Amino acid sequence: MSKQMSAVAAWGVAPKGGRRTLRGMEVAAPGLHHLTAVTADPRANVGFYARVLGLRPIKRTVNFDDPSAYHLYYGDTAGTPGTLLTFFHWPGAPRGRVGTGQVAGIQLSTAEGSLDHWADRLRTAGFPAEADRRFGEPLVRTADPDGMTVEILACGQDPRPGWSGADIPSPHQLRGMAGAELRVREPGRTLRVLRELLGWREERAENGRHRLVAGPAQPGHWLDLVGDAGAEPGRPGTGTVHHLALRAADAGVSERLRARLASAGAAPSPLIDRTYFRSVYFREPGGILLEIATDGPGFLVDETMETLGSGLMLPPAYEAARSAIVAALPPLDP
Ligand code: ZN
Repeated sequence: MSKQMSAVAAWGVAPKGGRRTLRGMEVAAPGLHHLTAVTADPRANVGFYARVLGLRPIKRTVNFDDPSAYHLYYGDTAGTPGTLLTFFHWPGAPRGRVGTGQVAGIQLSTAEGSLDHWADRLRTAGFPAEADRRFGEPLVRTADPDGMTVEILACGQDPRPGWSGADIPSPHQLRGMAGAELRVREPGRTLRVLRELLGWREERAENGRHRLVAGPAQPGHWLDLVGDAGAEPGRPGTGTVHHLALRAADAGVSERLRARLASAGAAPSPLIDRTYFRSVYFREPGGILLEIATDGPGFLVDETMETLGSGLMLPPAYEAARSAIVAALPPLDP
């Protein structure tokens, strides 16, 4: 992935013809697809996301550029877009710092009335649990083993079922991503790109926080854009978000969106085959790495619904070296 990433240049020119292309535009990215963050300790990562938060570990694979490191995926029963969290394992990498040009952390959705359950469960497992509110709605904030902020939001309208395979009583199960917070120094150009090129609509704004929605106004379909001209820029590393992926229905939509971004000076990557989805990467004007990922083909291309996440999946080029790769990877189970 890193090779394509480095080819993603800064915006060359301002978006042109934005107003004209907006009319009749399909909503090319109608929600969140996945969020990818960085961990120093894959075993602690599994312990937190699978056993404490009760997300399904839906895929266990390696970094396609470096098979000595894991790439771990969590989600709902089938790995539905919008429920997906993925983690790059960067052994020995320094701790990152959250700041501008980054996504601030992870936001997950649970039912109204479930926050007391989550605060108790987090504290019992040795993690912090701090109550807060955003746009008037309650949340519990914690930190994962790498120190990354994870927020559990009480969301009224979320029809997603979550996963029933962990020991979380069904009313409290996490249903997937709620939203994501994008932090930039100057929100104006980012706002224009999201609205005029990607089809997101601004729903509300308060104290410098713009809430944008794509598709239905439900969890998994919003972004909070926060401008802070005085904040320090973020530094990549463990405990920070690497990139955020928005949804595209299929590769045709991704290609049309890619052309639109290219004509606006965004220097997007080519469409890349990621086995479970097809991806286009670009950096928005505030410096955040965004991806547009297709809904298909999905996580059942190489495992069944029953066995999802139980084996180590390797790209074909690494299969011949499987036993050496497995022997070099740290164990994940307790
Ligand atoms: Zn991604």
